[in-house]
Amino acid sequence: MGAALEIRNLHASVEDKPILRGVNLTVKQGEVHALMGPNGSGKSTLANVLLGHPAYQVTGGQIIFEGEDLLEMSPDERSRAGLFLAFQYPVSIPGVTLANFLRQAINARMKAKDPDSKGISIPEFRRLLRAKMDMLQMDHSFAGRYLNEGFSGGEKKRAEILQMATLEPRIAILDETDSGLDIDALRVVSEGVNKLRGPNLGVLVITHYQRILNYIQPQFVHVMMNGQIVESGGAELALHLEERGYDWIREKYSTPE
Ligand code: ADP
Ligand code: MG
Repeated sequence: MGAALEIRNLHASVEDKPILRGVNLTVKQGEVHALMGPNGSGKSTLANVLLGHPAYQVTGGQIIFEGEDLLEMSPDERSRAGLFLAFQYPVSIPGVTLANFLRQAINARMKAKDPDSKGISIPEFRRLLRAKMDMLQMDHSFAGRYLNEGFSGGEKKRAEILQMATLEPRIAILDETDSGLDIDALRVVSEGVNKLRGPNLGVLVITHYQRILNYIQPQFVHVMMNGQIVESGGAELALHLEERGYDWIREKYSTPE
């Protein structure tokens, strides 16, 4: 059986304010899910909890990844176990090229698995990187750019997708809400996900915007509202959202404060 990320009745708070109020969601290898919902519904909070961000306190529930308790794992261990969070390295690192950064990431993993490992050889790494860039139709010169330095929204996304292609995670979480949301960036993410999707990759795309679904066809669509997933369905739910927006969900589920 493939890997799975199982979120069970998850409750989480920020600054003692409850945000997530019982989230249930399972993403399996080979599946593409979209998590949608109005601004402030808790989507990024979920992503931050999955990442292990210290500002977010888990107050109840469980997250199981590959049969293990994800909440007991450090962000590094989560990544090594095959969980990829797109916004894990949002900073720019002056003087470090994207290629260097990716090679270091691969080496860190190899050394974590085997302390005697010397890491990937340069020719081997070059071959790997070229193959991934060709698959993603990226210009090879892109890997020589300094990481995130002066990157446009679209280029940041390109770097993110290349990182994902290179690390070959089992489950990838992409939070698209706060990042450069021009149509170019959206297209880069969508085309990347479409190229990388397959039986070995599970994806959770988190987005406020229905339009990403014009590019990525998820098998499953979920809508978050007030820290809970209130609707789940297939592509038809996405179409419904595109036509009617979130108002009908707000009316159906909002509880007076
Ligand atoms: P979404 O991504 O769905 O727009 P968020 O998870 O970003 O929603 O936010 C959900 C709620 O949690 C909002 O009310 C927001 O103000 C609050 N929140 C999120 N992160 C923080 C934080 N670091 N500090 C304080 N409040 C936060
Ligand atoms: Mg968000």
